[in-house]
Amino acid sequence: MVNEKMLTLGTKKSTIRTIFEYGQKRIAEVGAENVYDFSLGNPNVPTPEYIKEAAVDILQTTDPAEVHGYTVAPGKPAVRAAIAEAINERFSMQLTSSNIFMTAGAAAAITICFKALNEESDEFITIAPFFPEYQAFVESVGGRLVIVPPKRETFQIDFTAFECSVTPKTKAVIVNSPNNPSGAVYSEETIKKLAEILEAKEREYAHPIFIIADEPYREIAYERIEVPYIPHFYKNTLVCYSYSKSFSLAGERIGYIVVPSEVDGFAEVYGAIAGAGRVLTHVNAPSLWQLVVARCAKKPSDISAYEENGRILYEGLIEAGFTCLKPQGAFYLFPKALEEDDRAFCEKAKKYDLLLVPGSDFGCPGHFRASYCIRKETIEQSIPVFKKLAEEYRKK
Ligand code: PLP
Repeated sequence: MVNEKMLTLGTKKSTIRTIFEYGQKRIAEVGAENVYDFSLGNPNVPTPEYIKEAAVDILQTTDPAEVHGYTVAPGKPAVRAAIAEAINERFSMQLTSSNIFMTAGAAAAITICFKALNEESDEFITIAPFFPEYQAFVESVGGRLVIVPPKRETFQIDFTAFECSVTPKTKAVIVNSPNNPSGAVYSEETIKKLAEILEAKEREYAHPIFIIADEPYREIAYERIEVPYIPHFYKNTLVCYSYSKSFSLAGERIGYIVVPSEVDGFAEVYGAIAGAGRVLTHVNAPSLWQLVVARCAKKPSDISAYEENGRILYEGLIEAGFTCLKPQGAFYLFPKALEEDDRAFCEKAKKYDLLLVPGSDFGCPGHFRASYCIRKETIEQSIPVFKKLAEEYRKK
């Protein structure tokens, strides 16, 4: 009677959601101060004042039809021009409004790109560990997600494994840096090597292979780590950006796609993006939030709370005996589980009310994800608990 796949997607809870709901139940039973919930990636830094002020001012002073009416499908021309200008200033690009397509966040942006590019079960490569929604998004447009294992110590790309995965059916490679869940930032060296391989494969197969840069965490990079701007290194790059994390606007659904003029078949690619947005019924990105982000396009993000949380959790876990990549960006740590079976490990952690997500859910067994966009006090109080858990393993 209904589409089985949709029924499964709509009713089978994700592991993250199940763990979060379990945490809510435990909070009711034992109190919030005794539950250490590292499950969700919902930004906890308050939305900046300048965003609130811009929203209020726009609501009070702008013609309601301009604020609440439909916009043209790619987004308001003046908004796209303001965003293009901000990107040009920051990354020395030469974009205009015609290179920007406003979307309802990164999820919409990447899915629109998948839909726009996919022909007859094309392949889309992701490097593990990866954002699990990619699977549903790629399959929803008829594509096939190909998962490539990473270098385990650094979570950079394992190019031997990567090269073996590129085939004539490869339409695009998804690059998510800073990465959810590993917290790694791909180095310039990694991006250059990726570009070199893809350029050679494009020549061999005589068709473009795109990079879809999924960048909701672009602003969240620590210790002055530079997040390479991929269009500088690879021509056929579509950048999917979101304000969900940088401005803590996850519920408002606002972001954009950059389609540089240099991409092969620019007019067709931009046109297909518009068509994909149309059939996916995006209509237009939220009008009020288009105006707000355009006004704030050059404003900085405050990542100090995430940086501090990441440092406290990382140092605490290392002290407790865990092995973990030092946080480079985003707000996740992806340590090694203390036994091979990451699901069994997370179940054991649950006994201590430490709520962690198994790495298997991100295509990378043997690890777990701890999301640190939570209260600093919770992280501080969790460290002795992590130590107790590690102690239980040492006693074995
Ligand atoms: N891509 C990655 C890697 C994410 O972690 C997320 C959200 O957590 C998204 C995309 C979706 O972000 P948005 O809220 O902008 O749709």
